[in-house]
Amino acid sequence: MDCLFCKIVNNEIPAEIIYEDDHVIAFNDINPQAPTHALIIPRKHIATLNDIEPEDCEVVGHMVMAASKIAEQQGFASDGYRTVFNCNSHGGQTVYHIHLHLLGGKPMGWPPY
Ligand code: IMP
Repeated sequence: MDCLFCKIVNNEIPAEIIYEDDHVIAFNDINPQAPTHALIIPRKHIATLNDIEPEDCEVVGHMVMAASKIAEQQGFASDGYRTVFNCNSHGGQTVYHIHLHLLGGKPMGWPPY
């Protein structure tokens, strides 16, 4: 399987890792859209949100918990932040290994287009 984010998980390509636990890692996005823009990914390969199975619920919970922990570490938890899962082409997904975008450090608008 030729997956960019699996290669980051397996240390085959470098990334600025800012958080990791048994289930997930988080690293800085290469094209940041906010002062902090991290991607939180499962160590397990899951291509899209549509591929999440019941046994993945713990992993997905770790992804969400990681977002709040990183926000606390980075000092913007109380000001607030944005988390986003993009799914498939209409959602804007470009890397097919699920990832939770965490954006913080500035006010953000809504809707996001
Ligand atoms: P998507 O559009 O939701 O799939 O988001 C993919 C994200 O991965 C984009 O924000 C890209 O900037 C980011 N990205 C792509 N390649 C790399 C990389 O090698 N390191 C870190 N981030 C990456």
